[in-house]
Amino acid sequence: MELKGQVVMITGGARGIGKAIAEAFAAKGADLVIADISLETADETAKELSQKGVRAKAAKLDVSKAAEVAGVFDETVKDFGRVDILVNNAGITRDGLLLRMKEEDWDLVLGINLKGVFLCTKEAVKVMVKQRYGRIINIASVVAFMGNPGQANYSASKAGIIGLTKTTAREYANRGITANAVAPGFISTAMTDALSENIRQEMLKSIPIGKFGSVDDVASAVAFFAAPENGYITGQVIHVNGGMYM
Ligand code: NAP
Repeated sequence: MELKGQVVMITGGARGIGKAIAEAFAAKGADLVIADISLETADETAKELSQKGVRAKAAKLDVSKAAEVAGVFDETVKDFGRVDILVNNAGITRDGLLLRMKEEDWDLVLGINLKGVFLCTKEAVKVMVKQRYGRIINIASVVAFMGNPGQANYSASKAGIIGLTKTTAREYANRGITANAVAPGFISTAMTDALSENIRQEMLKSIPIGKFGSVDDVASAVAFFAAPENGYITGQVIHVNGGMYM
């Protein structure tokens, strides 16, 4: 129970990769705040996690809304007393070729995927600076490094996360706060299950390990950065992509 007594906030933690991350932290005994745009799904996930013997609370949060973000952090500090680990996981896609991409789809994706990380990091750092301790882990993507046709908005948001992670790491390193990123490749979730069999087979050809990753593969890299003993690692990226980008 290496994280007993620690408080973890996971954005978009109700399902997919975020839920697997929450389960990995629950297995280590941490208390959890599942902050998701859908309170209903977050509630279901929090109830499941509570049955594993940890404190888990659901919070309704749209990460792109500054007032909601501030409110959720205030509530968390009131209820749990601290925030040790923040996982910025909430993310969406609105794909389309650049020439056809609507400005609103650019703004929506950047607003949630990148501004959301900025807003949550800012609130977390306020708490973590006082604690002189914190772990911030941002979920980026392999497309931040490779680009991907049809994902100008998404790849730009994820590349932005890498710069934001490194700046956060430099600004708060001397306060006991680390900031790192995990860059998943193709992971089996609702997002990738929706792709046609043809596209899935094409993608598999680009993955040396020869299979899609699992949500647990991503959770394991997040848990590494979150470990108290890994405090000398900051501003780094772990690629979880089966070798498709090296
Ligand atoms: P997912 O299954 O769609 O889960 C994302 C979660 O975030 C959902 O619970 C979603 O709620 C929530 N969410 C959406 N907008 C939000 C907002 N504005 N504020 C708070 N929560 C919000 O996605 P996933 O595949 O687990 O992806 C998780 C992260 O990994 C994302 O950042 C994604 O970009 C990244 N990633 C995924 C893959 C992959 O292959 N799956 C690869 C690389 C990176 P609703 O369901 O109610 O919308």
